[in-house]
Amino acid sequence: MNHTYNNAWLDDVHPNPYADQLAVGFRRLRFARSLEGEYRDYFLQQNFDLKRIALGVGLLIWLAFAVIDFYLVSTDAHWAMLAVRLGVLGLLLACGFLMIQHRHRHLLAPLSLVCICTLGIGAGAVVAIAHRTDPNFPYEGLLLVCMAAYFLVGLRLVEALAASLVILCCYVTLELWAGLPAPRLINNLLFLLFGNLAGAVGCYLLEFKSREHFLISRLMRELADRDSLTGLFNRRSFNRQLERLWRQAQRDEQGLALLVCDVDHFKAYNDRYGHQAGDQALQRVAKVLEDTARRPLDMAVRLGGEEFAVLLYGVTDLEARHCAERLRSALEALAIQHETSQTAPVVTMSIGVACVCPTVDMPLGKLYELYEHADRALYEGKAFGRNRVVA
Ligand code: GH3
Ligand code: MG
Ligand code: MG
Repeated sequence: MNHTYNNAWLDDVHPNPYADQLAVGFRRLRFARSLEGEYRDYFLQQNFDLKRIALGVGLLIWLAFAVIDFYLVSTDAHWAMLAVRLGVLGLLLACGFLMIQHRHRHLLAPLSLVCICTLGIGAGAVVAIAHRTDPNFPYEGLLLVCMAAYFLVGLRLVEALAASLVILCCYVTLELWAGLPAPRLINNLLFLLFGNLAGAVGCYLLEFKSREHFLISRLMRELADRDSLTGLFNRRSFNRQLERLWRQAQRDEQGLALLVCDVDHFKAYNDRYGHQAGDQALQRVAKVLEDTARRPLDMAVRLGGEEFAVLLYGVTDLEARHCAERLRSALEALAIQHETSQTAPVVTMSIGVACVCPTVDMPLGKLYELYEHADRALYEGKAFGRNRVVA
C-alpha cells in the first residue's frame, strides 16, 4: 500500500495522534500503542452486529450440512459424524449465548476465535471420519470455514490467520489418523493453502481500509471540534458539550463555572508586532488556558478572535474566582512584551466569571444566562481598567 500518496495536507494539521499515524503509515496493521487499544474497541463495536449475523448464518449452514452428510454417507460412520456436528452445535450455542450479551464485550474477540476454531476442527473431524471409508468425500467445506474467519466473523488479520492455521494443523492430524493416502492429503492441503492465501490478502486489504477509515474519521471529528490555530475546542463543540455538562451537573448537583476571557489591547499588539506574532501570542494564551482546564470535564475553548472561555465543572463560586485569578496572573507571568498596551508592558487579559449550581427543575434557558452573566462581567472588567477578574 502506498502511503506517501497525497499526505501533504497532514502537515497543516495541528499535532494530533491520528494525523501522525496516518503520516507514518501502518503497513504492518499496527498503530502506536495508545491508538491500538482505541482502534480495537472501535473494531469490536463496528463488528458486533456482524458477529451475530455470522453466528446465525454459521449455525444454519452447519445444520444443513449435518442433514446432507447423513444422507450422503450410508455407512455407520454417519452416526459418528452426526455426534461431532451436534457437539460443535452445542459449543456454538453456548458461545453465541455469551456473545449476544453486551456485558461480555471483553470476551467478544476470544469467543469468536473459539467459535471459528470449533467449526473448523469439527469440519475437519467430520471429513476425516468420512475419509476412513470414502476418500472422495468432499473436504472443501473447510475452506468455507477459513473464509468465514477472514471475512465474516469480524476478526483482525492476525486472529483470522491464527485460527486458520490451527484449523489446518488439526485437519492434517485428523487425516493422518484417518489414513488418507499421502498424495491425496497433499493435494487437499495445497488447495486449502492457496484458498487461505487469497483469503488472507483480502482480509489484509479490508483491515487496512478499516484502519484508515478509523484514523480519518477520528481526525475529521477532531478537526471539526477544534480550533486550527490553538488546538482548543471551538465554539460549536463548546455549545454541544455545554448542554451535556449542564444535564450532568443537574443530575450530580454540581456547580458549573464559566470564565469568559478576552486579551487586552490585542488590536494594538497586532499593529505593533504583526499578525504572525499575534498568532503566536494567541497560541501561548491558549496553552495557559489549557493548563487551567486540566480535569476531565473541564473545557478550554476559543470562542473566536482573541476571546476564549474556560468551563469548570464541580466548582464553587470562590474556587472559580481563584481559578480565574490564577489564570490571569499566569498569563501576566508569561511576560509577553506588549509596548503599546495602555494597561501593562506585557500581554494581559480580562476575565468575566459566572457560576451556577443547576437544579433538576432549572430550564436550559438558564444555561444561556450563564454566558450572558460572564460576558457582562467581562465588559465590566474592561471598563474598570482591564487585566482583572470580575465575578
Ligand atoms: P480590548 O482590550 O478592548 O479587548 O481591545 P482589543 O484590541 O483586544 O479588542 P478588539 O476587539 O478591538 O480587537 C481584537 C483584535 O484581535 C482584532 C484582531 O486584529 C485581533 N485578532 C482576532 N483574531 C485574530 C487572530 O486569529 N490572529 C491575530 N493575530 N489577531 C487576531
Ligand atoms: Mg480584546
Ligand atoms: Mg474581543
